[in-house]
Amino acid sequence: MEKKQFKAESKRLLDLMINSIYTHKEIFLREIISNASDAIDKLCYLSLTDDKVGKNRGDFFIEISVDKDKRTITVSDNGIGMDMDELENNLGVIAASGSYQFRKDHGESEDVDIIGQFGVGFYSAFMIADEITVVTKKYGSEQAYRWQSSGADGYTVTECEKADVGTDIIMHVKEDTEDEKYSEYMDNYKLYSLIKKYSDYVRYPIRMLTPVQKEKEGSDPEKPEYEMVDELTTINSMVPLWQRKRSEVTDDEYAKFYQELAHDFEKPQRVITVSVEGSVTYRALMFIPSGKPLNFNTEAFEKGLQLYSAGVMIMDKCDALLPDYLRFVRGVVDSPDLSLNISRELLQHDRQLRVIAKNLEKKILADLEKFMKDDREGYEKFYRNYGRALCYGVAGEGGETRKDELKDLLMFYSSTEKKLTSLREYADRMPESQKCIYYAAGESVALIDALPQTELLKDKNYEVLYLTGEADEFVLQGLQNYADKPFRSIVDGDLELGGEESVSVDEKTELMQFVKETLGDRVKEVKASHRLKTHPACMSAGQGFSFEMEKYFKNFDMPEPVKADRILELNTAHPSVLAMEEALKTDRPRAELYAKILYNQALLIAGLPLDDPGAYTDMIAELMK
Ligand code: ADP
Repeated sequence: MEKKQFKAESKRLLDLMINSIYTHKEIFLREIISNASDAIDKLCYLSLTDDKVGKNRGDFFIEISVDKDKRTITVSDNGIGMDMDELENNLGVIAASGSYQFRKDHGESEDVDIIGQFGVGFYSAFMIADEITVVTKKYGSEQAYRWQSSGADGYTVTECEKADVGTDIIMHVKEDTEDEKYSEYMDNYKLYSLIKKYSDYVRYPIRMLTPVQKEKEGSDPEKPEYEMVDELTTINSMVPLWQRKRSEVTDDEYAKFYQELAHDFEKPQRVITVSVEGSVTYRALMFIPSGKPLNFNTEAFEKGLQLYSAGVMIMDKCDALLPDYLRFVRGVVDSPDLSLNISRELLQHDRQLRVIAKNLEKKILADLEKFMKDDREGYEKFYRNYGRALCYGVAGEGGETRKDELKDLLMFYSSTEKKLTSLREYADRMPESQKCIYYAAGESVALIDALPQTELLKDKNYEVLYLTGEADEFVLQGLQNYADKPFRSIVDGDLELGGEESVSVDEKTELMQFVKETLGDRVKEVKASHRLKTHPACMSAGQGFSFEMEKYFKNFDMPEPVKADRILELNTAHPSVLAMEEALKTDRPRAELYAKILYNQALLIAGLPLDDPGAYTDMIAELMK
């Protein structure tokens, strides 16, 4: 019998499959099942208008069988089938879709990798099979054909007998090697798992003989005995949860689905469903987890949504679907408009995908807004988990374009409410005369609350936002203002209290000059404070970098270390400052000692490292003599 040759480009892909060392050979089953499902789609569609098909929607199925003696796995469908021409054209030529072109564009070196990134179609079966036989009968034709190939040396097509319309793909499984146990693909449980993993939502039943427990015939009903019997069982769930109306799915069903998807013991905090029909049609089912994965803030955390094309999974974690700041969202997107033959790289740039991603982002933000309104306590819990991620939505790359959408989702600790508050709530509580929104940054609420600078505003009952998140200050910097009120750091900036509320102080310029001379370059400026009440000294940074930013940037390899200015503010009415003034008149070294101690105390309370802790303790000891 004459052997026909594959077209050149098909041959090269075939070579690739046959010699594949790719570790995810298992995708072959997904590809073959997906072809079967497509073939059924076609006949099913015909049956709508053509009575002669003689089949209803419920009559279609895919069946998988194994013959361990012959080492074959067979995938059968009762779909449209192929005639002689189609066998030649469809299986002899690699589909003109992405894979070959991609390989050409990217050179030969990436051979192995592309297998994982493409739906490589029918040929992928050659990763596990050394011979493939296709027996097929096209709907409307009397003649069936057998196509057979053991790989690169070509294929044969002959006429044969087949009772029913449809296609059998018979894969002769390769012999096991040291490295590869091909036999495992003939294992019932392995096949079951692969169907569940990749093809669970194929719309037609995928059936396979599966061992089920049965009561033994004639066994005593009082003390029944059981036996395992192979029974033709439908393996796949078929209708995915996201294709069902939200009102028809219970919370428990959603929770169970989420828990399997995210490997989480807890139930999700929110369920977000999206259904869009238009230039790109898709459905999405997304979740906000109740807890935070331990590795969430590390590079090991992989973001992304599962991507399906008409019920067939194409990618487990498609990261192009989520912006970084929403990377905590888990879920599934299914679009019949996406082709299976699509590479990971191409996906990144896929226009449809970008449209979907943009829209999902909007939906998630809208849901968060609703979440905050409907379930404040739940939202605060969410915010404690993922608020930092949202903050990076404003403070990170591209934040400028997003800040208006995000600003009302942010929360900060309020000094007067003693809990998280939103900027809207703060603005609504503000007395009309208040010019700025006040904040103070630090490591923890307790440490910020102990800052000398907070004293005056606390005293006057002003609300101050305590920023404890590492990105919080950058967020406010990005927002610039809220409800037309600028943000003002109470640690560093001018408080603009105005009129009677500002403290009038004795500036004591000469004393300040003395302290500056004593401290030299360690401080930029020494001045009388307008915000201290009971504390003698504090350190502020003025314009530019704040101390919290300085601490934050310590963790990065900056070309130049980020250093905030140090401005020492002294409470000129405080007994210790007065004592220094007195000492200056009679005992200059003692006054210098006081100045240095006050400086070190200001550093300590600002959470800044001391220049020389040893010298500082010596100075205190000196005082105690
Ligand atoms: P793709 O599915 O991406 O087109 P494949 O290499 O997987 O590429 O398949 C090539 C073609 O062979 C399919 O487009 C289809 O026309 C045909 N084909 C494959 N499997 C079947 C099947 N089970 N029944 C009918 N036609 C099939």
